[in-house]
Amino acid sequence: MVLPIVGPPIRDGAVAVENGRIVAVGPRAQMPPGDERRWDGILTPGLVNAHTHLNFTAYGDFYDNGKPFFPWIAGFPARNATMSPQDWADSSRAGCAELLRTGTTAAADVVTEPSVLTALHEAGLGGTAYFEVVGLDTAAWVERRAAWLGHLERVTHIGISPHTVYTLSTAVLKELGEIARDQKLRLHPHGSETLHEHEFTMTGTGPFAEFAQRFGLDFELTGCGSGRTPVHELDAAGLLGADSHIAHGVHCDPADRALVRARGTAVALCPRSNERLEAGEAPIAAYRAEGNPVAIGTDSRASAPSLDLLADVAAARRIALAQGSPEDGLDRWLVEAATLGGARAMSLEDQGALIPGNRADLAIFGVSGAGDPYQALATEGEGACIGTVLSGHIVHQT
Ligand SMILES: [Zn+2]
Repeated sequence: MVLPIVGPPIRDGAVAVENGRIVAVGPRAQMPPGDERRWDGILTPGLVNAHTHLNFTAYGDFYDNGKPFFPWIAGFPARNATMSPQDWADSSRAGCAELLRTGTTAAADVVTEPSVLTALHEAGLGGTAYFEVVGLDTAAWVERRAAWLGHLERVTHIGISPHTVYTLSTAVLKELGEIARDQKLRLHPHGSETLHEHEFTMTGTGPFAEFAQRFGLDFELTGCGSGRTPVHELDAAGLLGADSHIAHGVHCDPADRALVRARGTAVALCPRSNERLEAGEAPIAAYRAEGNPVAIGTDSRASAPSLDLLADVAAARRIALAQGSPEDGLDRWLVEAATLGGARAMSLEDQGALIPGNRADLAIFGVSGAGDPYQALATEGEGACIGTVLSGHIVHQT
C-alpha cells in the first residue's frame, strides 16, 4: 500500500526512483522496468520530525529522572558541562540513527552545541539545523554575538532557534529575528509550552522570573511582564511568520491560535514531551477544527521516551479524540502533519510527499493496509518501521 499523502492510497503501489529522486508513483503494473525491492506493508514519504534536539539524545537520564519542568530544565547547564566533543558527536549521531530506524528522514534539529551543527546533514537526513541561543540577557549576548555569528557562517542549511521568551531578553529575541530576515534563515522558537511561561510574559512573575534572577539574567519582562501571552510576545519580537514554526503551542487560546494562523506559522505538537513534563495538553482538536497548520515533533530524548514520531502521532490522536475531534479524517490529518506538515513547517519543497521530482526519502511500516491505512499508521505504526530509504538508498531494513 503506497500513501502518496497528496493523493489517494494506491493498493499494490510502487515508487520508481532514479539518482536519489522519485521519478514515478502509481500502480506497480505501470512502473518502468528496473531493479525491484518489494515490501509487505505501507509505504509513505519519510516522516518529518518537526521538533527535536539530537544533541541531547544521550540525555535519556533526564527523561527517567521524573523531575517536573522547572528543576528538569535547571539541570541542563551542569549536565552540558560533563559532555566532551566526542560525547556530543556520539549523542547527535545516535539521534540520527534512531530517526532512520523509525522511518524519519528529515528533522527540525535544535542544536545547542556548535560542534554538532552539521550532524543532521552529515547523516544524509533532510531538514534544518536550528542553531540555538539560550540563557542570555542582552549584555551576555553582546559578548558572545561575534562567536555565535561565526558558527552560523560556516554551516549551510541552517536556521536560528531563539530558545524561548523566558530564557532570552526581549532585545536579543528581536535581534535574532532581524538576523534571520537579513540572512534569509528560518526561525524555530519554543512557544507556549507551560503555564509558567504564560505567567512570566503576562506579569513577569513565577518560577521563570526566579530562574532568571537566580542566574543573574537581566530580562525586560522580569517583575513587570508585558501583559501579552507567549505567542503574542513572540509576535511582538518579530519571531512569527511563514518563515518560522513554533514548538509545543500547548496553552494557546483562540486569539493565539488565530495569530499563528494569520502569520502562517505552523505549530509542532510534541504530546509525549508535554506529558512527561506535565506541561499540559495542546488544543489539538481546536487546531484541526480551525485549520491551523500543524506538524509533529518528538522533542529530545531528555523529555520523550523515544524519537519514534508515530508514537507522538498516536498520543496526539488520543488527545484529539478526548477533546472531541471527529474521528472521521483524523488519522489522515495526523499522518499528513507527520509528513507534509513538517516539510511545510520548514519549507522543504521536495519532501513530505510522494511526487515525481521529490527526494526519494521513503519509509515502510509493517502494518496492514487492508483497512484504513492512515488509521493503521496512527495506531500501530510505533516500532513498526521495516524499511527506510534515504535519497534512494536503503539505510534501514528488518
Ligand atoms: Zn524542545
